Amino acid sequence: MIRIRRLDEPAVLEVKKAQWDRAYQDRRAKKPDAKAWSSQYGHEEIKRRLQAMSHHKCFYCERSVKDGCEVDHYIEVAERPDLAHEWRNLYLACSECNRVKQPNKVVPVDQCLDPCDVSVDPAEHLAFAADLVQARNNSERGRNTIQKYALDRLELESERRKQLLYFMTAYTEVLSTMNHEGRQAMRDDERELLRRFAQPEAPFSLMFRSYLERHTL
Ligand SMILES: [Zn+2]
Repeated sequence: MIRIRRLDEPAVLEVKKAQWDRAYQDRRAKKPDAKAWSSQYGHEEIKRRLQAMSHHKCFYCERSVKDGCEVDHYIEVAERPDLAHEWRNLYLACSECNRVKQPNKVVPVDQCLDPCDVSVDPAEHLAFAADLVQARNNSERGRNTIQKYALDRLELESERRKQLLYFMTAYTEVLSTMNHEGRQAMRDDERELLRRFAQPEAPFSLMFRSYLERHTL
């Protein structure tokens, strides 16, 4: 998870929100547990705007969502049906994070890290040992976030490991070139190459940021 800056509300929401809210209210009046429609809150235009915000990555696990993603309600609709079509409550999740997400009554969302809260940097609460995610300095918010979205699930660890292998291959190559040329210092372009893994558009960038900091790269 990294910090995500919210873009402006997409036009479709500005135009349709009131109508969708009213229709949903009517449906709930007839059937209290009626679900909000993903064809509305998950409209293509909304999805595209959320993808642009996160460089096409899941807001929670930072995996690339090019193969598919879902619009997620940060605050559950079951708790706040009035936020079903509220732009600031719409987040982008890979289908796996959305599926395994712990309900609010198990892990309350207000005790977790919010990627869209610009005042909090998830890097201060989450750290990595290789591909394993941990709560930094035993941060409770970090711990809750890992639990809420199962950021320590095996399938995700193995994806992070794969990405880490690409990085290690590049790093080893840089070190071997330095060795071959009898250099102690890394060239700027070599450092840039490694830092590219930690840029916000790269998958699992927080893991690499953590790694680069630890190795002062
Ligand atoms: Zn995810």
